Amino acid sequence: PAPDPTAGAAVKAADRAHVFHSWSAQGQIDPPAIAGAEGSYFWDYDGNRFLDFSSQLVNTNIGHQHPKVVAAIQEQAAKMCTLAPGFAVDVRSEAARLIAQRTPGDLDKIFFTNGGAEAVENAVRMARVHTGRPKALSAYRSYHGATNAAINLTGDPRRWASDSASAGVVHFWAPFLYRSPFHAETEEQERDRALRHLADTITFEGPQTIAAIILETVPGTAGIMPPPPGYLAGVREICDQYGIVLILDEVMAGFGRTGRWFARDHWDVTPDLLTFAKGVNSGYVPIGGVAISAEIAATFDQRPYPGGLTYSGHPLACASVVATLTAMEEEGIVDNAAAIGEQVIGPGLREIAERHPSVGEVRGLGVFWAVELVRNPETREPLVPYNASGPANQPMVDFAAAVKRGGLWPSVVMNRTHVVPPCTVSAAEAKDGLAILDEALAVADAHVVG
Ligand code: PLP
Repeated sequence: PAPDPTAGAAVKAADRAHVFHSWSAQGQIDPPAIAGAEGSYFWDYDGNRFLDFSSQLVNTNIGHQHPKVVAAIQEQAAKMCTLAPGFAVDVRSEAARLIAQRTPGDLDKIFFTNGGAEAVENAVRMARVHTGRPKALSAYRSYHGATNAAINLTGDPRRWASDSASAGVVHFWAPFLYRSPFHAETEEQERDRALRHLADTITFEGPQTIAAIILETVPGTAGIMPPPPGYLAGVREICDQYGIVLILDEVMAGFGRTGRWFARDHWDVTPDLLTFAKGVNSGYVPIGGVAISAEIAATFDQRPYPGGLTYSGHPLACASVVATLTAMEEEGIVDNAAAIGEQVIGPGLREIAERHPSVGEVRGLGVFWAVELVRNPETREPLVPYNASGPANQPMVDFAAAVKRGGLWPSVVMNRTHVVPPCTVSAAEAKDGLAILDEALAVADAHVVG
């Protein structure tokens, strides 16, 4: 479509007047006005088109405006827009069936929510009621959402303003070899020490007080760190030993992102509860949920589940889930994510790392990768300090601006850029995006010392 800066200016003016944005100082932001989106791209009103290497908030796994999903939403809107959760409705039943078909083990019952935070909120509630215990353990390097339990479980600085002593949350260190909290030098050491640290934490907290351990199968926002082989199996064993519920949060890692339906499929570890959102329908209509094991579901066979939502299993959202999962299956979208990761993004980023002193490490799988930027490759000092803002964060701001000038929309988190295009990204698009990153990294290289 032809550029229309006048329309863009009107959209922006109304936004600045009336829209209150997430996580932001309202007077310091300048949200770009976006006119449209298709596949791996979106564009503004001024004629700028961006290759979306962020998948928005790592959710558009099937890309923008997938025609089959758009049609399914339109058809459902014409048929039945909404219906209370107390009724059985065809698309809700079918969405639950298709999700349960893909979740591991006997996680065959689905509780629907409106997004990821509510999924986490309800998973923890289920674990607490099921065990009769108060506490939940989560990793420092984590993001679980912004509602009360979810933000308290979250490890990143967004928790600080909402920290509440009554949340019953205890944080621990999960493995991350590049910045090892355990001074480990190998994956095996990192795994063994992380497991010992978790076991010690449980001993000192009192196992009988702990309802759940929640982990992102592959931590996302916190830096896309695939766990060392054996870590998740070790956590599963610890949970079994103490009767602790294992919750795997697959809100970001699930539904194709890692090149498998769920990230847990890489390590074959089965949680008691699995939370999902984002990729389940690429966010075309808000939805998330919890997949529940037979044992935990049975707790609520004769006893009411103390939770619910007006829009639980919303028909429009469920219709988009059915269409999304069907399209992903028919079009081999999960396999595409795996192939792009193995053949294009992985090798491409490793080459980029060799050329740029500011790249300390690249890691990931599928279409889920992090590029860790450093000021000093020897000491691994991050390019900007943890939680930097203002002038201290300027190197990352400048890097992001250079990427955008190249026509790529990056996902920049602290000292990292995450490479998280849609699972539908083509090899040519992925190569284009990597070439733009490659060029923009000169901005980061300029800050390298030593
Ligand atoms: N859990 C994980 C792992 C996430 O990455 C996110 C969002 O990024 C959430 C939970 C929260 O999801 P939502 O923003 O849909 O509430």
